[in-house]
Amino acid sequence: MKYFSLNDPDFKIDFKQAVLMGQAPGKGLFFPEYIPNHEKQFLENLKELSREEIAFRVIEPFVGDSIDKDTLKKIVSETIDFEIPLVFVEDSVYSLELFHGPTGAFKDVGARFLSRCLQYFSQKSGHRSTILVATSGDTGGAVADAFFGMENVDVFILFPSGKVSQLQELQLTCYGKNIHALEVDGSFDDCQMLVKQAFADETLSKKFNFISANSINIARWLSQQFYYFFALQQWPHDEPPAISVPSGNLGNIAAGLLAQKTGLKIRAFIAACNENKSLVNYLETGIFEPQETVTTVSNAMDVGNPSNFKRVLNCITRRQSPKELSGYSFTSEETLNAITSVFDKSKYLMDPHGSVGYLALKKYQESHPDTKGIFLETAHPAKFDNIIQSKPGIQISVPIRFSQYDKAQSHSRKISVEFNALKESLH
Ligand SMILES: *Cc1c(COP(=O)(O)O)cnc(C)c1O
Repeated sequence: MKYFSLNDPDFKIDFKQAVLMGQAPGKGLFFPEYIPNHEKQFLENLKELSREEIAFRVIEPFVGDSIDKDTLKKIVSETIDFEIPLVFVEDSVYSLELFHGPTGAFKDVGARFLSRCLQYFSQKSGHRSTILVATSGDTGGAVADAFFGMENVDVFILFPSGKVSQLQELQLTCYGKNIHALEVDGSFDDCQMLVKQAFADETLSKKFNFISANSINIARWLSQQFYYFFALQQWPHDEPPAISVPSGNLGNIAAGLLAQKTGLKIRAFIAACNENKSLVNYLETGIFEPQETVTTVSNAMDVGNPSNFKRVLNCITRRQSPKELSGYSFTSEETLNAITSVFDKSKYLMDPHGSVGYLALKKYQESHPDTKGIFLETAHPAKFDNIIQSKPGIQISVPIRFSQYDKAQSHSRKISVEFNALKESLH
C-alpha cells in the first residue's frame, strides 16, 4: 500500500515513511493510493470474530509490509486492550463508549497504535525522534500516556493556556521524563500553527527528527477505523445504523468514512459540531471557509480550521452521493441542556462532546424517523466534572485511573505564540 499527498498526487510513499513524515511537503495530507475492499465474508461475520482479529484485518492492508504480521498483531492487541461497549440509551439511540482507555478519551486508540508503530520502527533503525503535537484538550494526555517512558522518543505537547479542563491539563503535565508540556499563551489554532511552522523549518526538522502525533498522522487516523467495526460487531439490528461523530479536526469522521468505503455497512454519517462549524457551513453552501475558533463547553472540538477537511472531502467526493454526510451545529447551552434531559429521562450521563453527538443524531432522526443510530461518546464525563457538576442532581463516579494525577507533580513550561519561544524550549 502506498500513500499519496492530497497536495501532490505524484508524491507517493509507503506506510512506514508516511508515519515517520507525518505530513507531505507543502503541508499535504497523506491518503491511501487505493481503498481496499474487505471480503464480504469478513464483513458479515463480525459478530463471530474477536476484536483483535477484526482490528488486525482492518489495518493489515493499510500497513502492507511495513510491519510483519506477528508484530502487527501484538501492536493491535495492545492498542485496544480495554472495552469499547455499545450501550442502549433510549429508543433508536445507542452510545458507543470510546472512553474506557487510560486517559478517558477516544484518542487513546490512535495514540497507542502510533506509539507502538514508532517504537517498532525506532528499534529497527536505532534513530532518536521528537514527537511534536498540538492539543485542544485530549490529544495531549493520550499522546503523553502512550509515549511515556519510551526510549528514543522525546515528546513536546503544546496546549492553549486556560483552554483545557483541569483534569486534561494534569493528564499532560503529570508525566515529566521524556514528556514535555508547553503551555502556549494563545488558542489551539495558534498551537497548531506553531507545530506546522516547526515541521516546515527544514533545519530544525532535520535536527530533531520531528514526527507528528496529530490526527494528520496516518497511524492515528487509520486506526480509528476500529471503532466503526466494533460498533457494527455489537449492533443488534439488521438495518445499518447512522453514526453521529462529535467532530473537531475531523480525523475521526474521516476514518469512519474510510471504513465505510472499505465496505462496512453504515447508513449515513453525521458530523456533530459545536459552534465551530466550518464543515457544517460547507455542507450547506459548498464553500469551505476556516473560522476563528469559538470557545465552547466541548473544548476538544473547538477547531476553526479542521486539519482533516481534505480527507473528508476526498472520501465524500469519490463515487458516492454527497448526502451520505450530514452535519449539524449546537450551542453550549443546548449541549448542557441535553446532558440534563438525557440523564433525567434515561439515567445515562453524557459528556459535553457526546452530548453534541446525541443532539446531531436526534436532529438527523427528525428527517429520517426510521433510522436507528449510534452517537460516539468520545470522552469520559468525569473529565468535565467542572461543567457537568453545575447541574444539580447529577453524580459522577470518577474512575480510579484518574485519581493518580497529582497536581504536585505537574511539569510544564509557559511560552508565547512566537516561533522563537518554541524553538528555545526544544533545547
Ligand atoms: C479530539 C476529540 C474530538 C474531535 O475529534 P476529531 O477527530 O478531531 O474530529 C471529539 N471529542 C473528544 C472528546 C475529543 O477528544
